[in-house]
Amino acid sequence: MVVVGGGLIGLCAAYALMREGHRVTIIERDHLGAGAATGNAGELTPQQVAPLASPHTARDVLAGVFSSSSYLSIAPLRLPQLAGFGMGFLLSSTHRRRAHATRALAQFSAAIFPALDRMTDDGIDTSGGGSGYLMTCTDERELVAAHTRYHARASERWGEAPGAILRGEDLRSFEPTLAPGIEAGFLLPAERYLDPVTFVASLARRITQQGADVRTGLTATRLAAGASVVCRDEAGRESTISGDRVIVAAGAWTSPLLRRSGIRATRIVSGKGYSYTVPVERMPRHLVHSIDRHCVVIPMNDRLRVVGMMEFDERPDAFHPARLQVLTKAAGGLIAGADWDRRTEEWVGARPMTADGMPVLGSPAGRPEILVAAGHNMHGLSLGPVTGELLAALIGGRSPQVAGSPLDLGPFALDR
Ligand SMILES: Cc1cc2nc3c(=O)[nH]c(=O)nc-3n(C[C@H](O)[C@H](O)[C@H](O)COP(=O)(O)OP(=O)(O)OC[C@H]3O[C@@H](n4cnc5c(N)ncnc54)[C@H](O)[C@@H]3O)c2cc1C
Repeated sequence: MVVVGGGLIGLCAAYALMREGHRVTIIERDHLGAGAATGNAGELTPQQVAPLASPHTARDVLAGVFSSSSYLSIAPLRLPQLAGFGMGFLLSSTHRRRAHATRALAQFSAAIFPALDRMTDDGIDTSGGGSGYLMTCTDERELVAAHTRYHARASERWGEAPGAILRGEDLRSFEPTLAPGIEAGFLLPAERYLDPVTFVASLARRITQQGADVRTGLTATRLAAGASVVCRDEAGRESTISGDRVIVAAGAWTSPLLRRSGIRATRIVSGKGYSYTVPVERMPRHLVHSIDRHCVVIPMNDRLRVVGMMEFDERPDAFHPARLQVLTKAAGGLIAGADWDRRTEEWVGARPMTADGMPVLGSPAGRPEILVAAGHNMHGLSLGPVTGELLAALIGGRSPQVAGSPLDLGPFALDR
């Protein structure tokens, strides 16, 4: 098996395939765990696996073009390249389309923790985090709407029900590290988080120990006939790597690779997020997620990671320090007692975004030897372990199932 991309999906795929006895070669242009794999929020969350596009975010798109202080930013000079994606995003923002994508994605919800637990039982390091997300919002109506939505998802068995809404002193004694002004919130008690740095390192170690042929510093430039990948190394030398099947898991870089290979597929663009670590006087008891500030703070091992932003500029590798200022402003109003001037581990990562919020999982027409597993949007960690198992099942000729139920792969088709 040839896996293109050694990020979250590529590593989970390699791990699952090797467990079934396949020999695996990974082609990775940088190092294992590059891309968006390690600096993310570490969330595994059946309750929140949903598309970004919604009537609410559609309104944020305008602010994204014209305001430099919005969490969502769209580079005006890149509007021509992003126009098609933007139209698709707006079309996917209606209640009806969002409900369709949400239902399709929720097929995975019940499988997220069992797939992770199987990795833990097998000795993969899933530590460094905990469980329980404290959801906050200063807009009362928005908070109640979110609370109602999570209850509705729980009644569909798409996650555990939220706790009661806490206000004022009750909230403050529940989470003393909240900044002044955060007056209401509720706990999603079952959602989990982990340290993606140690998780990815553990997966990389496992597949390497078990004999995966890991080719780092090698870029896949196009897919050739059959299960072959044409690559270029850092010195510009070309080579071809072949196998029985090729799994394309190149995250936000997938679309150019498919285009160069003559394969039509739903476009995946980069939606960049930023993170860093800060020292705090006191660590929050749980992950704290601000719905209206669009940021998350995560107690991760002995450090507090701050995560947020959604930047569309068609430059998945470019780091813009100004985005960190916007993130700090948002997080500074969420959590007290952090030393915002002593930021370390500053990071940018490209989420592989699709307009409709759904990943691409399947083969191009007439090319069963190629499987694309990309476009996991904000959910590549939540969905990584289960995607790996799914790919192993498809390659093993088994019908796709998640948590014992048949999986409808139709919504995730390549060219939709
Ligand atoms: C700020 C932020 C916070 C996030 N928080 C969460 C979270 O809490 N929970 C969650 O579930 N998800 C989260 N995500 C999303 C998650 O990180 C992504 O969905 C996930 O990383 C996608 O996995 P991937 O393997 O498709 O892409 P990546 O992890 O980006 O990996 C792609 C890999 O392919 C390599 N590559 C690309 N092109 C080529 C090529 N041509 N040849 C060879 N190699 C190539 C890249 O170098 C990279 O290593 C977050 C993302 C960001 C940015």
